[in-house]
Amino acid sequence: MKCKTCPREAGKRDFCLLHLKAYENIVKKYDFWRKALKISWKEYLSEIEQNSLTGEWAKEVASYLINNEEIRIVKEI
Ligand SMILES: [Zn+2]
Repeated sequence: MKCKTCPREAGKRDFCLLHLKAYENIVKKYDFWRKALKISWKEYLSEIEQNSLTGEWAKEVASYLINNEEIRIVKEI
């Protein structure tokens, strides 16, 4: 099984270790953003995708999530 966003071997949630870490950070930070800025999950993801301060890993995960509309994942955490 390959990672959803790169050719590496995937582990948990079908992400490789590096993308999984980026993914977990994205989900963790969303809680803070949601409270502070009241933005939706999708708006938050596009912020990450466009923010030049965001790492490449997070950008790749964000654009994957945008394109695949995995909105449910927020509730799973
Ligand atoms: Zn990956």
